[in-house]
Amino acid sequence: MADDDVRCDACPVLCYIKPGRTGSCDRYGNHEGKLVRLDPHIVLDRAVEDGKSVVPFLERSRDWDGTMVSHGETFVTAIGAGTTYPDYKPAPFIISSQVAGVDMVTVVTEGIFSYCGVKVKIDTDRHLGAECSTVRSQGEAVGHVTTSEYGSQMLSLGGVRHLTGGSRQEGTATCDALLNLCNGKAVELKIDDGADVLVQAGHPPLVDGAREERMRVGCGSATIGMFARQWFGKVDDVVVVDDHITGVLSEHQAGKLLGVRETGIKLKGRRSTPGRYFQVAEPGTSWGGTNIDDPLSILGKFNAKKAWPGLRLLMVSTTGEHHAYFELSDDLKPMEKELPVDLRESVARIKENCEPALCTVLFMGGAGGSLRAGVTENPVKLTHSVRDALTRVTCGGAPVYIWPGGGITFMADVTRMPQNAFGYVPTPALVAPIEFTLKLTDYADLGGHMDSVRPLASIAATADGRKRVTSRADNPWPLESGAAQKK
Ligand code: SF4
Repeated sequence: MADDDVRCDACPVLCYIKPGRTGSCDRYGNHEGKLVRLDPHIVLDRAVEDGKSVVPFLERSRDWDGTMVSHGETFVTAIGAGTTYPDYKPAPFIISSQVAGVDMVTVVTEGIFSYCGVKVKIDTDRHLGAECSTVRSQGEAVGHVTTSEYGSQMLSLGGVRHLTGGSRQEGTATCDALLNLCNGKAVELKIDDGADVLVQAGHPPLVDGAREERMRVGCGSATIGMFARQWFGKVDDVVVVDDHITGVLSEHQAGKLLGVRETGIKLKGRRSTPGRYFQVAEPGTSWGGTNIDDPLSILGKFNAKKAWPGLRLLMVSTTGEHHAYFELSDDLKPMEKELPVDLRESVARIKENCEPALCTVLFMGGAGGSLRAGVTENPVKLTHSVRDALTRVTCGGAPVYIWPGGGITFMADVTRMPQNAFGYVPTPALVAPIEFTLKLTDYADLGGHMDSVRPLASIAATADGRKRVTSRADNPWPLESGAAQKK
């Protein structure tokens, strides 16, 4: 180590940094012999009016001008704040402020999360891959397909096993994918024996290069129930093709109650209950998330005792994206015809009821020992305080969901945070902002680092490297309401 090198101790890598250079993670640098955090420290200004932002959120970011608005209107986030590593240090900022006459404290730190990942919700009916299939980025395993939800396919990415339990390349690729997803960038994911998906938080997914437009209106059975009245009298039978539950109007309870006549239709697959069929085809990226391009391939022969020549049949997918209209010939074979005008509206209505398809990325992490030690000398007390709702947890000022049970395991929607809220260290691990806000008296009770508490006004004097950003109007203001603010 040369004399003018500095040693960064903000993570276990412990980089020696030469003058004018940065450490391995590019977050810290040697500026004239001093170790400096290179990204701006983000301070949130409250949106001007509740529910309204005069200027769009990102355009309001501007250089810190040294002024400080009133206490309740400014929130010091952990983005760019630095960390507690090597664990025994108090959090870099422990800021006191008065909110509605109550002395509050916000403890902020950039947590280094080896135990973290993202849950990705991809709004599509298309089959992306079988459950438990490996998801890859840059050719490395970074997660797996998990159980699908209503109208969405779900991926579970990251976690300590991929970050630390495999090869170096696997850990690095996992960290890269998590970082980019959390910072709102597009990431290409390949699923073993499945689809290639381009995922970006808040944007429609691209499945095998095709942009997904909308998520389903419901399963096949639900679609029958929702639109049965609109079809009644205009068509003799309707099949809503769905990889999970295909619906048949004439057999479905909705059709029975309306008095729809039996049509002698026969579906392949496993009949669950009247008018509801499972496994009519293999999963795929075509009609209703199945692999079929020809809807007739899921039908058997019509029962000659019940069907009749001229019988009108509509087949449609759960998004309305695919549809076909048939009439039975004299020998009871379905013949495709143009969709009659009075059925077009119902198909359009299915599409109209489908919400735009988006990707959602939830960061999930556990606030463990080192992070909690930066808040209090008795870390379990912080856990109890969060559990008792005396302490509010935020992630870059955004609300979080805390999982019940032990520990402080939270999830946060990355689109509700300021841009580039996440970083990484090459151990590898993700760096994520986390803030704990509570009453000052409660902080003292839980053994907080009271000697390190400093008033909000004090940071105005050290304006360098800070950036003010207007909070999102649809985020609850971290210093307002809730148990943490009760007197
Ligand atoms: S990787 Fe980054 S945080 Fe870790 S020691 Fe190097 S510069 Fe510091």
